Amino acid sequence: MTAPLLLAAISAAILLQVAIGIGVGFWRLRHKGLPPLTLTSEALPTTTGTGWRAFRVEGEAFEDQARTQRSLILQPTDGMPLPDFAPGQYLTLSIDLPVSPTEPKRMIVRCYSLSDQPNAQSYRITVKRMPAPATPSDLPPGVASSFLHDVVQVGDRLRSKAPAGQFVLDRESDVPAVFLAGGIGVTPMISMISWSLTHQAGRRLSLFYGVRNRADHAFKALLEGFAQAYPTFALTVLYNAPGRADVEGQDFHHTGFIDIALLKSVLPHGQHQFYVCGPPAMMAALVPGLTDWGVPTRDIHFESFGPASSGYVPPVAGAVAASLHKPLTIQFRRSGRSVGWNGEDVNLLDFAERHGILVESGCRSGSCGACETRLVSGEVRYAKKTDAEVPAGACLLCVATPVSNLVLEA
Ligand SMILES: Cc1cc2nc3c(=O)[nH]c(=O)nc-3n(C[C@H](O)[C@H](O)[C@H](O)COP(=O)(O)OP(=O)(O)OC[C@H]3O[C@@H](n4cnc5c(N)ncnc54)[C@H](O)[C@@H]3O)c2cc1C
Repeated sequence: MTAPLLLAAISAAILLQVAIGIGVGFWRLRHKGLPPLTLTSEALPTTTGTGWRAFRVEGEAFEDQARTQRSLILQPTDGMPLPDFAPGQYLTLSIDLPVSPTEPKRMIVRCYSLSDQPNAQSYRITVKRMPAPATPSDLPPGVASSFLHDVVQVGDRLRSKAPAGQFVLDRESDVPAVFLAGGIGVTPMISMISWSLTHQAGRRLSLFYGVRNRADHAFKALLEGFAQAYPTFALTVLYNAPGRADVEGQDFHHTGFIDIALLKSVLPHGQHQFYVCGPPAMMAALVPGLTDWGVPTRDIHFESFGPASSGYVPPVAGAVAASLHKPLTIQFRRSGRSVGWNGEDVNLLDFAERHGILVESGCRSGSCGACETRLVSGEVRYAKKTDAEVPAGACLLCVATPVSNLVLEA
């Protein structure tokens, strides 16, 4: 190599180093001192034996005025087509949360409904920022939703399992479908409604969508566009705390909450399939309310969004309903706790949480496998076949109930 060429090569190397240094500096500034995301191509195998697949964030958009509901468009990094999914299903994301520059990252699992109809190239999820509860004042805001709002940017990578879940539109039916959505519970409905309008010409669809006010009103233009374009789609929006500038008849149709009286007054007589997803108070009022109204169980489909909104616990067939005469002993080995199971809890996850025992969880419906725990001894049973495969010697706490005394690793 000649002297001028050598000089040019050295200068280029120095310039590259400076550029990298500036880039890292900007990155750290952007992430307010958090250690860097490890979701890089090296850290993320495209697919693994455990079913995780790497995705690149290809796009983002806020769906509401308050910018608390952020959509992320995810494309697989392997470039292979995406499998079809049933409208209403969700993705299970695994997120490596930076704790501090010196500590190892903490992996958490969270589920997010697919908020668009299936296509072969990308998935869309819409994440609501979860603020800290008002009291007590020292609690942190939601960890995963904050991370997905504040840290994840277009170009970053995330890990997800294939779509899963039982809360899906009945695609074989042409029975009118009625969607009852509260807040972020609208996401699976967007997928179901979009798919049905595209593929089921003539099927009557009604969406009752309850939000606080215009600031939280997500997918407004999309839904109003559907209502204008499709005479088969009826949209009813309710604000429970309209803002001063919110106009009834223009932004929303009714003040208050979705209730059975409204449904009775608006829906025509005849069979309907109901799909319900929303906050605890709404689920607790509407799901039993539909049953009391005489809607058969087979026509009531509902989903809770996990710990953040699982105040309403639906009855699970096969769960031990009545108090047991003699409680079973459930030993949580790592936590050093032994607690009596008297049959009042619907599953071992609720039971553990009620007793302050910390266990990881995700979907709370036997799909994501996040709550899998080693079953050291004893026997459990499942109310239904689990979507996640349960290895021998393990148990899925969120859908299991004990049949005998248990020793669990958790
Ligand atoms: C099937 C399914 C589909 C879902 N789909 C969606 C979706 O489409 N969009 C969406 O946004 N979410 C969805 N979720 C919910 C989502 O999975 C997460 O539960 C949600 O984002 C909150 O997670 P987080 O980590 O941000 O909050 P977490 O950290 O789990 O905290 C939840 C709440 O508890 C509060 N909190 C923190 N610590 C405490 C404490 N010690 N005591 C009491 N409260 C505390 C937090 O401030 C926060 O308000 C879905 C869930 C399921 C199961």
